[in-house]
Amino acid sequence: WEEAMPGSTGEERILVSVRVRPLNDKELARNDLSEWECINDTTIVYRSNLSASERSLYPTSYSFDRVFRTDCPTRQVYEEASKEVALSVLNGINSSIFAYGQTSSGKTYTMSGITEYAVADIFNYIEKHKEREFVLKFSAMEIYNESVRDLLSNDTTPLRLLDDPEKGTVVEKLTEETLEDWNHFTDLISFCETQRQIGETSLNEVSSRSHQILRLTIESSAREFLGNYKSSSLAASVNFVDLAGSERASQTNSAGTRLKEGCHINRSLLTLGTVIRKLSKGGRNGHIPFRDSKLTRILQSSIGGNARTAIICTMSPARSYVEQTRNTLLFASCAK
Ligand code: ADP
Ligand code: MG
Repeated sequence: WEEAMPGSTGEERILVSVRVRPLNDKELARNDLSEWECINDTTIVYRSNLSASERSLYPTSYSFDRVFRTDCPTRQVYEEASKEVALSVLNGINSSIFAYGQTSSGKTYTMSGITEYAVADIFNYIEKHKEREFVLKFSAMEIYNESVRDLLSNDTTPLRLLDDPEKGTVVEKLTEETLEDWNHFTDLISFCETQRQIGETSLNEVSSRSHQILRLTIESSAREFLGNYKSSSLAASVNFVDLAGSERASQTNSAGTRLKEGCHINRSLLTLGTVIRKLSKGGRNGHIPFRDSKLTRILQSSIGGNARTAIICTMSPARSYVEQTRNTLLFASCAK
């Protein structure tokens, strides 16, 4: 039975992909065209007349596990950049899938699609495996200014993080809904969306500064004893993380926003970057600063240890975003 389970390859490296969204009408109207070219399935190249000094500062070619062109459907991004990582939860392995990129680069578009495909696959899997009993629990939270809130509750009081000797960091009083079926899932997703908007003047501003974590915890047990307790009973979580805009991780915003810089730098995003860099440098045994931010504390057991991680970096191909896009690609390169 275990052999048939997805995600059991033992692969520990972080899976890093880049998705280029199509130019939008505004960008096309102002002739803000692409200077990037995906030369194959793994490499994206910057094609422009760089000065010699710029050329020496920045790489022009970036390679990842997968690069998705503008015409790639989300289904393909899901299949090739996140499915295996997401479904490893069925094998009792924790996992996280992140969308990283500047505001309006396509994080939410990509992550909401991936979440739906993954949940649909999980329901299908359960349907086909009657020999096991499954319990699905769904929770949703938002981290805004290092304050955690429950997206499945009307209560906007910030939630505390507690250290449980067995479970690690837990979010106190976080709602956990037992997921019944597909319709129940889509209802909960709609509810989360309404919750994100409450009390905020501009949804755009919130979504560019906040992280959203949708977490699905799956417990399963064999209906008949299988000879060993490990496969008899399994529990793990998969986390779908729509990150704050990556411009919030940058110390060098454009001159106009310098004054406000202090409140724009996002501790969770910066710490996530440090954690991912250290993990990818093989530092799983050294000190990893999980405890420096809310996001990394909450996700510690789903990115460290033997957890599986996928990062999908989203980017606009437009010329005017070239600096932000370069920062995104440099982040992605560090995560490899
Ligand atoms: P972000 O969450 O990074 O701020 P969004 O996901 O909201 O960005 O995307 C910004 C806009 O671009 C949305 O209108 C979205 O529908 C559109 N968009 C993003 N990615 C794609 C894509 N790959 N194909 C088509 N439209 C996209
Ligand atoms: Mg978004």
